[in-house]
Amino acid sequence: MDALISPKRRTLLQALGAAAMVAGCGEHRVPTATTRPLVHFAGATMGSSFNVKIAGAALSGEREAAARAAVQAAFDDVVARMSTHDAASELSRFNRHASTAPYALSQDTLQVFALARQVSEETAGAFDITVAPLVDAWGFGPSRHATIPATERIRALQPGVGYQLLAVDRAAGAAAKAQPGIAADLSGIAKGYGVDLAARALERLGHTDFMVEAGGEVRTRGSNAAGRPWQIAIERPDAVPQRAHFIAPLSGHSLATSGDYRIFFERDGRRYSHEIDPATGAPADHRLASVSVVAADCAYADAMATALFVLGPDRGPALAAARGLAAYFIVREADGSFSDRATAAFEALGGTLA
Ligand code: ADP
Ligand code: MG
Repeated sequence: MDALISPKRRTLLQALGAAAMVAGCGEHRVPTATTRPLVHFAGATMGSSFNVKIAGAALSGEREAAARAAVQAAFDDVVARMSTHDAASELSRFNRHASTAPYALSQDTLQVFALARQVSEETAGAFDITVAPLVDAWGFGPSRHATIPATERIRALQPGVGYQLLAVDRAAGAAAKAQPGIAADLSGIAKGYGVDLAARALERLGHTDFMVEAGGEVRTRGSNAAGRPWQIAIERPDAVPQRAHFIAPLSGHSLATSGDYRIFFERDGRRYSHEIDPATGAPADHRLASVSVVAADCAYADAMATALFVLGPDRGPALAAARGLAAYFIVREADGSFSDRATAAFEALGGTLA
């Protein structure tokens, strides 16, 4: 068996308006009227990397340091609350709470629980944070030992999976489990939430033109260094090295992608992705390679992308279209080529094939 689990970055970032800055080529660039200063900093969070670009007026060293610190603090906060990989996180402690008595949680975590529940309801349970025991059984949890669990084991775990089994009471500041063994996995939504928090932190510091990305999930505001919308590229599945497939111009929107080509394992020629279909208890198994969702909030886009991935190449686009969502699907054809499907709301954003 080959375990193939790698850090992912499905959304390439291109400041196309400042292409020469990216491409370099040793050319000395004379700033033009259309090119504004761009600050770029990066770091590590949630098992992946983050990137921030701030365009507009030049920043003092002090303002840049403040932006960096605020973004890092926002991500650190989300990890401390919502990571399943940190046994001391608020979520890990909640998961160990083997009781149906209400458990006090921070407003941030409760808000993510509530949003997760909303997306569960909108997707007939395709997104369901209570899949945690199944994620673990397939080896995509904190232990990360790719494995195919016995059918009986999946059947035994399934009664403990169901978004209705988790009650969220934001006014009381607590969540309660319907069974003592319920556990939640926020990996399908927390990265997007972290991006939202980081963006809000930048706004509090007065920034109006920026892009925040973590693990491939992006939030944009205002315009890029060329004074145009941020040019966010959706990655071509399986491409090595990474390559843009489609470029969406975004300003004030978030984009999140779920796919089967970065985190999966293969056994006997079959690919097992880390998105688990709560209805079957097994990894989503279909020809959808990736789905990207554009929405105002990155947490919503993140969760909805996971749900649409679980739903697959037929039910995913149908649900997205019915709900008026902006979504872009890349489907693997039998001959190895890809075919794309965008909803009307996605097409309305504009954008081009790379
Ligand atoms: P990534 O985290 O790589 O961006 P996703 O956003 O699609 O990818 O989240 C996948 C992760 O979410 C899995 O690794 C698992 O921890 C969790 N997960 C898997 N299936 C589901 C599901 N049906 N609903 C909610 N979360 C899920
Ligand atoms: Mg997700």
